[in-house]
Order: sequence, then C-alpha cells, then structure tokens
Amino acid sequence: MRMHICPVCERSDRTTRLSAYWRTLPPERRAGAPHLARPSLDDERWAAPLGLLTLGCALLVSEAWLGFVGVAGGGVWLVSLRATVAQTARRRAEWRRKLFCRRCERVFLP
Ligand SMILES: [Zn+2]
Repeated sequence: MRMHICPVCERSDRTTRLSAYWRTLPPERRAGAPHLARPSLDDERWAAPLGLLTLGCALLVSEAWLGFVGVAGGGVWLVSLRATVAQTARRRAEWRRKLFCRRCERVFLP
C-alpha cells in the first residue's frame, strides 16, 4: 500500500487504513470510539416491511381489501427504506477509503 501523509503531523510512518485499525481494536476500545466504527446497515429494518408485504400477499387470496392495503403499505415502506440504505452504503464506501494516523488519532481521507 502507498503511504499516505497525515494532514496534522505531515508524516506517513504511522498512518494506516481506518478499517485495518478498527479490526485490531479490542471491544472495550471500540466502545470508547464510536466515531471510528463502520456505519451499520441495520439489516433487521427490512424484516417489518417485508413481513407486511408477505402478509398482504397472503391476505389477497381471502380478504382482498386488507391484502391490497398490506401490499401497498409494505411497498411504500420498502421504497422509503431504499433511500436510507443507499445513503448508508455511500457512508460505508467512504469509511473503507478513510485513513487513520496512530500518532495524532486523526481520521482523514486520502
Ligand atoms: Zn498524524
């Protein structure tokens, strides 16, 4: 890997990928440095709207009205989640590019 120069101390001998540094941190240090953590995707958020969509599909057979409301509601919910997820994906991509200076404890982009 090419060495990157820290914008604070202007040295490159102690800079590393933030992701690599994060992996070496013990859990108690991670808890004390939430600003260094990788943005989480919160996968469980998909469960509720997908469940509503599935329930709506099942209800379409017997209770057409209720089923339609369920499918429409679940669909709208999923679409609104997509924007948030795309934003999180961008933040994660940026996090992977970030560098860390062990000397200054400073996070910066190359
Ligand atoms: Zn530095």
